[in-house]
Amino acid sequence: MRKQSESRTTSPTIQEKIEQAHNLFETCGDSLRQNPSIRTLLNKLQECIENTKDSMFKLGVVAECKHCEEQEGGSCCGTGIENKYDVELLLLNLLLEASLRNMQPSQNSCYFLGEKGCKLTARHVLCVNYMCQKLQKKLAREQLISLQTCAGEELDTLFILHEAIKKKIRT
Ligand code: SF4
Ligand code: SF4
Repeated sequence: MRKQSESRTTSPTIQEKIEQAHNLFETCGDSLRQNPSIRTLLNKLQECIENTKDSMFKLGVVAECKHCEEQEGGSCCGTGIENKYDVELLLLNLLLEASLRNMQPSQNSCYFLGEKGCKLTARHVLCVNYMCQKLQKKLAREQLISLQTCAGEELDTLFILHEAIKKKIRT
């Protein structure tokens, strides 16, 4: 007989986590969306994400990343980063109407990288905070501060909402 310690200990794959997030969305999506504090946080997070994106676009970050992807052999969204995402963060993306189906991942890139960049709406703290050397050199100090301020607001809201969703699911 197989010992307890020999039972499966490997982490779920990203596809398994996506499936779990869809199942949770089916069973709890409506009640989560109808919860006033969750709804307020979802709206606030969406706004913060738009602000960060807007700032990245205006400061030329989007153009630099596109250049890496198209001219320098690929962006820094490397394979394996998707494993940082847990089921609740994927569920949060479904609540924000991101589509997690029909991904066509490349072997050398993060599972969520699409032709036009990241396919997620709410990204992990590692993705939101990452600032490569090239961008650090290119951006002026005030520009970096402005971008980090937007990213900080996004991450604060993401953290509160992520925790609130975990708590609601448990109850
Ligand atoms: S963050 Fe930096 S290294 Fe990564 S894709 Fe953008 S410009 Fe390139
Ligand atoms: S930004 Fe999106 S595509 Fe890039 S590493 Fe993060 S999750 Fe993956």
